[in-house]
Amino acid sequence: MCGGSVHTVRPRTFCGWCALSAGYIPCLIAVGLIALNVLPFHLCFLPMLHAACVVGNASIFYYYYSIVIMVFAEIMVYGNLYWAIFTPPDFVPHEPWAEAPVYQGRAVSENPYEVFDLDRTGKLRYCGACRQFKPDQAHHCHMCHRCVYRMDHHCPWINNCVGRGNCKYFLLFVGYIPVGAFHIVLSTLYSCVFHFPDFFGQAMTEEKIFSSLIVILSMVFSTAMGLCFLAFAMHFVCMAYQGQTSVSRMIASKKQADELEQQRKRAAEDRLFYMFDLFGADQRWSRMLLPFKPDHDVRRAPPGYAKRFGGSVDEYIVSLV
Ligand SMILES: [Zn+2]
Ligand SMILES: [Zn+2]
Repeated sequence: MCGGSVHTVRPRTFCGWCALSAGYIPCLIAVGLIALNVLPFHLCFLPMLHAACVVGNASIFYYYYSIVIMVFAEIMVYGNLYWAIFTPPDFVPHEPWAEAPVYQGRAVSENPYEVFDLDRTGKLRYCGACRQFKPDQAHHCHMCHRCVYRMDHHCPWINNCVGRGNCKYFLLFVGYIPVGAFHIVLSTLYSCVFHFPDFFGQAMTEEKIFSSLIVILSMVFSTAMGLCFLAFAMHFVCMAYQGQTSVSRMIASKKQADELEQQRKRAAEDRLFYMFDLFGADQRWSRMLLPFKPDHDVRRAPPGYAKRFGGSVDEYIVSLV
């Protein structure tokens, strides 16, 4: 499907390049906050656990288990953050959406594509900026200056839209943060109780008190971060299960009752389409939970997908073969 660059406008001036670069500052802040969360684990907790292993208070297998889970969560969080930032969200191509699509199977157009949603005035949804009609669930992003398929929102932390192309990476990024954070909290708590006999006692040297304080602060920070991102990830998955995005949910709150009823009837189909957008055709758990590139080949899409969300006439013809 639609590949290409993340940025739709190439800066021509020095100031333009500076503005483009400044957009990545929140991404660096996100990287720093995650590092702030995991560094105390590596610099304070693991040395304490290793010392406990040396004196026989902890098992070396537990030490390596803690490292493996932590490194796996870090690779998943940073890897998915990287792909969410640098994968294009799938911009709607000008062809064939420059022509009016068919509305709810009522053929008044040569264009084979079909839409079910209208705008607030009851007309086909049209983007004046891109000069093209919008497929259902596509919205114009004023930061990216383009219409984006299955747009959820424009996220400043990834300096990118969350759309069909990168929503899987965004969800995995958000979902693996609680995995890492709760691993820090649980393994630290477990070790404090069972592996560090003097942790709550009096026999502590000054440097031990300092690293213990860092470990406690790290647990508090990880708990807060884990709970926030767990709530966010669950909210994202619940919306996907209902076939909705953040934008479509906001718009649905302003819709008439009969439109909402129609939408409810299409919910099962919309869910299939959204799951295809999110995870691609191959929806085995092993592929969904790891950052494999989703297979968005319309030949393997649910029936009716190409007619509503195709990106070119070629794709539509391929879906019919
Ligand atoms: Zn647009
Ligand atoms: Zn955007």
